[in-house]
Amino acid sequence: MYEAISMNFLLEVSYGSYTSPFKLGAFILIFFIWLALINWINHDARSVQTKEAMWTGLFAAAGLIGLFLWIALPVFVVGFLIYLLATGTVALSYIIHRNSRVSDHEKVLTINHIKNIFSNEEKSLRKSSRGFTFVTANGNPIDIPEPKTKESFGYGPTCSLMDDALYRRANIVTLIPGSEDTYKTTFIIDGVAHERAEYAAEDVNFMLYFLKQLADLDVNEHRKPQKGKFTTRKNRDKTDWELFTAGSTAGEQIKIVKQEESQKMTFEDLGFSEEQIPPLKELKPLKHGLFLVAGPKGSGVTTALYTMVRNHDPFLNSIVTLEKRPADTLDSVTQNIYKPNNPEGKSYGMQLQTLLRYGPDIVAVGDCSDPETAKIAATNSSSKLIYVSIEAANTVDAVAKWSQMVGDKKLALKNLVGVVSTRLFRNLCHECREAYEPNPETLRKLNIKDEIEFLYRPGEVQYTRFGKPVECEHCQGTGYYGRLGVLESIVLKKEAREQLIAAGDQREMLSILRRNGLVMLHEQAMKKVIQGELAINEVIRELKVSAPKKK
Ligand SMILES: [Zn+2]
Repeated sequence: MYEAISMNFLLEVSYGSYTSPFKLGAFILIFFIWLALINWINHDARSVQTKEAMWTGLFAAAGLIGLFLWIALPVFVVGFLIYLLATGTVALSYIIHRNSRVSDHEKVLTINHIKNIFSNEEKSLRKSSRGFTFVTANGNPIDIPEPKTKESFGYGPTCSLMDDALYRRANIVTLIPGSEDTYKTTFIIDGVAHERAEYAAEDVNFMLYFLKQLADLDVNEHRKPQKGKFTTRKNRDKTDWELFTAGSTAGEQIKIVKQEESQKMTFEDLGFSEEQIPPLKELKPLKHGLFLVAGPKGSGVTTALYTMVRNHDPFLNSIVTLEKRPADTLDSVTQNIYKPNNPEGKSYGMQLQTLLRYGPDIVAVGDCSDPETAKIAATNSSSKLIYVSIEAANTVDAVAKWSQMVGDKKLALKNLVGVVSTRLFRNLCHECREAYEPNPETLRKLNIKDEIEFLYRPGEVQYTRFGKPVECEHCQGTGYYGRLGVLESIVLKKEAREQLIAAGDQREMLSILRRNGLVMLHEQAMKKVIQGELAINEVIRELKVSAPKKK
C-alpha cells in the first residue's frame, strides 16, 4: 500500500510541473550537454571528413524536438526518456558512421577507447618501448612520443618489431603489403627468409610515419624510393640500421637492413681450409695479373674481394677500389663508389679507365658485369694487379663467363693468376645440433669414403612436460647460428693459363683446373659436414650435388 501511495505522490508532483529546482537543474544540465555534443559532432564530422552540416543539423533537430516534447509532455520522466531516445539514436548513428571512417586507434566508445581513457597512456607507452631508445642518423636520441599522436601509434609496433628482429638475429626485416589490409613480415636470418607475425596495414602506416621521421625521410612521399639511417639502443647494445621505403601498387613497403660492424676477415675467417691459404698468401708481392673473385649474389663475394685486397700491404702499394655497393670501409685504401647517374654520364668502364690513369698498383673492381669494364680490366692486367669480382656459380663457371664477357679468350685469360669462388652456408648451432647415423647409401652417393659413424643435423624442437615448445636460446630455435664460407680456390701458373686458353668447353676447362689443384666447393663443403659444422641436406640443396633418393 505504502509503495502505491508514494508512486502516486511522485506522479502528482511531476504532473506538468517544472518548478522543482531539481528538475530545472537536470533540464539545464541536459541542455548544455546537448549544446556541447552539437559542437563536438560539428568538429568531429569535419575532422573525419563527413557531411558536417547534415550530422550537426540532424543532432540539433533531434535535440530540439526532444526538448520540446519533454516540456510538452506532462510526465517528467517520460519526457526525459523520449528526449534521450531522440538524441541518443542520432548520436549513436553518428558514432557508428564516423567509426567506420577512421582507424582503430581513432574510434570512440569502443572497448579500447574506454580502456585508454582510464589507463595511464604515458606509462603504457614507456612499457611498450621495451627498453629501446631510437637515435636519429645525426646521433640525437628521441623521446618517447606524446600519447595519442601518430608517432605514438607507430612507436609501440616499431619497438616490438625491432625487439623481435634483434632477438632473432635478423639481418634484414621486410614488411610487404599482403592480402586483406595486412603486411607480411619477413626476417632474413643467416641468409634464409623466415616469416614472422603479420602486421595490420594500419599499424604499418603509423610505423612508416614514425620510422620516416626517425630516419629523416619525407613522411608525405609514399611512392618514390627513399633511404635513410637510424640506430637502436637497448641496454648496452647499439645497432645501426638502414631504412628503405618504396611505393608499390599494393602499398608502401619497408625494408630495414642491419649495418654489420666492419669485420676484418682473414683467410681463415673467410672459410679457407689450411691447404688453401699458403698459395693465396704467396700472391702478396705480385705486381701484375688478373684475379677473379666469384660467387652467386649474397654469397660473400665482396667480403672475399676485400680479404684478397687486404692481403697486400696498403703502405707499400697504392690500392684503389671501384665499387657499386661497398660493403665496408677498407683502411688505407681509396674506395671509389660508382654512381650510375653521375653528371658526366660515365659508364662503369669509363670510371675504371679514369682511375687507372692515376697509376695505382692494385685495383679491385666490384660487380663487373659488362664487356667494356671487363675488357679494360683484362687489358690493364699486364701492368697492374687487378682483382675483379663477378657473379658466377663456381670457378669453372667464372672462367667461362669472364672469357665471354671480355669477348676475347686469350686477352681474358693470358694474365689470369687465380680464381676464388665462395658460397655461404648456415652454420649448425653447436648448442642444439643432433648427431645421427647417416645412411651408408647417402655417403656412397656423395663419394664420402671416410669411415663416418655419425653426422649432425639441426636440433629438433624440445618440449616441456606440459607440451610447451622450448626454443634453443642460442639460435632461437632455427637450428643454425651464423654462416660459414665454403670456398674454391686455385692459383694458376703460365702453363695452366695456356691450357685454359686452348681448352674447348667447360668440361675440358674443369679437368685442367682440377689437374692444377682446384679443390671443389662440394669437397670443401663435405669436409665441413663431417666436422659437424654444416647440415648435409643444406649442402646437397645449395650445391645441387647428386642427391640420394630416399628409400
Ligand atoms: Zn640452437
